[in-house]
Amino acid sequence: MSHFDVVVVGGGPAGCATAIHCAQKGLRVVLLEKARFPRDRPGETLHPGVEPLLRQLGITLQDHRRHPGHWVHWDGPSRFQAFSTSRDEQWKGFQIPRVLLDQQLLEQARTLGVHIVQPGHPSQVLLEQSRVQGVQANATQWTGQFVVDATGHHAWLQRQLQIPWRRFSPRLVARYGYCEDSSLQDKKLGLFAHPDGWHWIARISQTCLHWTQLAFAQDVPHRLTPEALEPLRMIGRVRGADVSWRLCRTTAGSGYFLVGDAAATLDPCASHGVIKALLSGMQAASAIVDCLSWPTGEKTVQAAYQAWVQTAVERDVLALRSFYRAHPYPPAWL
Ligand SMILES: Cc1cc2nc3c(=O)[nH]c(=O)nc-3n(C[C@H](O)[C@H](O)[C@H](O)COP(=O)(O)OP(=O)(O)OC[C@H]3O[C@@H](n4cnc5c(N)ncnc54)[C@H](O)[C@@H]3O)c2cc1C
Repeated sequence: MSHFDVVVVGGGPAGCATAIHCAQKGLRVVLLEKARFPRDRPGETLHPGVEPLLRQLGITLQDHRRHPGHWVHWDGPSRFQAFSTSRDEQWKGFQIPRVLLDQQLLEQARTLGVHIVQPGHPSQVLLEQSRVQGVQANATQWTGQFVVDATGHHAWLQRQLQIPWRRFSPRLVARYGYCEDSSLQDKKLGLFAHPDGWHWIARISQTCLHWTQLAFAQDVPHRLTPEALEPLRMIGRVRGADVSWRLCRTTAGSGYFLVGDAAATLDPCASHGVIKALLSGMQAASAIVDCLSWPTGEKTVQAAYQAWVQTAVERDVLALRSFYRAHPYPPAWL
């Protein structure tokens, strides 16, 4: 048996942010990540707000593509949606390969003394009188005061504890992939509405584009790749990801916290997945520090975390619904 203050399961942005922030506060942390790195993940167009969060975690992003906003081809004429509302500000988003971002986050956690188990395969949650005490993984019992589920859409702990979801959409599957290109104009990048739903095209390097496409109705035939990219050479295969809108009904409970996509997911049109993952990880870490210094206040601290997650998700659902209502062919399920 190996005992720590905090056991984090999952080493994406949410898990690493939790582990780093806990370690910065002097806690002993173990992080179990099932995949060997480097491994790729979608989610490479980042909101400028990630920069101050990453700085707090001790990470500086250098030499990556920056963009002041996006082209939106949705309702009415195409428009450029800038991040900054004032001309003087220079707020720019990042285009960064997740292979690099996630590796940098994991290395920072290691540098701060987080014990990394990779590949770490949790097989069972350890419970004592209904309180989560740790996880069984790789023939070892990893115990802690708190277990944090940061396994992304896989939501490992939610499955183990059978916590129900609150659903805001029918099942939605996004398709995504990469293609070769060096000449597509900037105006042909960005977010496009089309009769089936939408697609998003971003330049991730001088010679490579990343695209994501979502059909609002999954049960009728629809195009799997954006029409504009059909003449181009695809790199690798087209992939799919479940991006149904959902929120776990209990994001913090006896001995555990859920962060990032394991707590809640919206489809990528919300375009805030990574920043939300970082933010919820840091918020959960602060909550854990508060719980450890004020054990009798655990329920109060956890209720505050849960309310914070719920308010943010409900606000984002309203914003995304209102954006989809302005779509020329809005989803019937709205
Ligand atoms: C097609 C698509 C495009 C997107 N585009 C954007 C975008 O442009 N910008 C943006 O901000 N967001 C985007 N997102 C959302 C973004 O990818 C996620 O919100 C973000 O990755 C969530 O981070 P996370 O740390 O919660 O989960 P993840 O990044 O999924 O990390 C989870 C980690 O847990 C590990 N894991 C899983 N199961 C286990 C287990 N049982 N045991 C141990 N480890 C486990 C995984 O290997 C992984 O490393 C997109 C999503 C999709 C599907």
